[in-house]
Amino acid sequence: QQLKGRIVKALSGYYYVRPDEITSAGHDIQCRARGVFKKRGLSPLVGDHVIYSLTENGEGVVDELLPRRTELVRPPVANVDLAVLVFSVTEPALNLQLLDKFLVHIEHAEIRPVLCLSKSDLEHEGSQSIEAKAAADKVRELYTSIGYEVLGTSSRHSEGIDQLLSRLQGHVAVFAGQSGVGKSSLLNAIVPGLALETNVISNKLGRGKHTTRHVELIDVGGAYVADTPGFSQLDFQELGIEDLGYGFIEMRELAPKCKFRGCTHVHEPGCAVLEGIEKGTVAKSRHSHYLQFLEEMKEKKRRY
Ligand code: GDP
Ligand code: ZN
Repeated sequence: QQLKGRIVKALSGYYYVRPDEITSAGHDIQCRARGVFKKRGLSPLVGDHVIYSLTENGEGVVDELLPRRTELVRPPVANVDLAVLVFSVTEPALNLQLLDKFLVHIEHAEIRPVLCLSKSDLEHEGSQSIEAKAAADKVRELYTSIGYEVLGTSSRHSEGIDQLLSRLQGHVAVFAGQSGVGKSSLLNAIVPGLALETNVISNKLGRGKHTTRHVELIDVGGAYVADTPGFSQLDFQELGIEDLGYGFIEMRELAPKCKFRGCTHVHEPGCAVLEGIEKGTVAKSRHSHYLQFLEEMKEKKRRY
């Protein structure tokens, strides 16, 4: 009998499949993958929708992988459709260049980003509160005007957690952000009993704190959340220079109005993006990060 389910965990060659239909067993089915996947160079991922069948011993076999909507490498999860990009209002300071870099990658992965300004308590308390609030206000104004959603959370004061949870409803989500912004604290706040270690300094070998963990999708009542913070750093290795403009949604939208097809929005006459900057409809900070990324990519090309 062919059944449908979703892989929620992968460990030691086993895939744990959660049945789509509530079964009498009521638990995940421990499955092996059919050998044919290896031959075809396919490997099932956590998050995959699969067709599986039961074997005599109560275990199962993954027979077929259904098409993936999205595929992330870090963490390795299929069908993620929401990325919560976590940036603390201070400690570490808001880094808009990094934020734009994350957005470029998330746009290319066809995953919807939600910006989360964490440690919102530090907008009102502490020695950096004035600077922190000003920086957070700027992000809220700029990124909502571009069309992004911006949420605020404080794990310390349990603020914004319910709003974040309701935003996750119906989605498969990952959390991403640089080290120290409070991703683990947020995951602990929304996943009862998760108890990720927070504030762990990477060991002397320079390995991150989550490198040995196996990713698992946790059901948080109507949403799946990857139980490990996702990427904290990215480079542009896998992106082409011509793809960069796609990652800036306001530039992507204006590009058809540029005089030249394939306009790079650097110095071309009749460039709608450059005109937008003049008129104040395109943010200078966004465009200057675009130019910096372009340089970074050209530099990489020269070196390889
Ligand atoms: P991660 O590296 O992104 O997973 O960040 P952690 O969750 O480990 O948190 C890093 C540091 O920020 C820890 O010292 C936390 O106590 C602190 N922190 C986390 N959330 C908050 C918050 O909402 N407010 C404040 N003030 N500090 C927080
Ligand atoms: Zn242009």
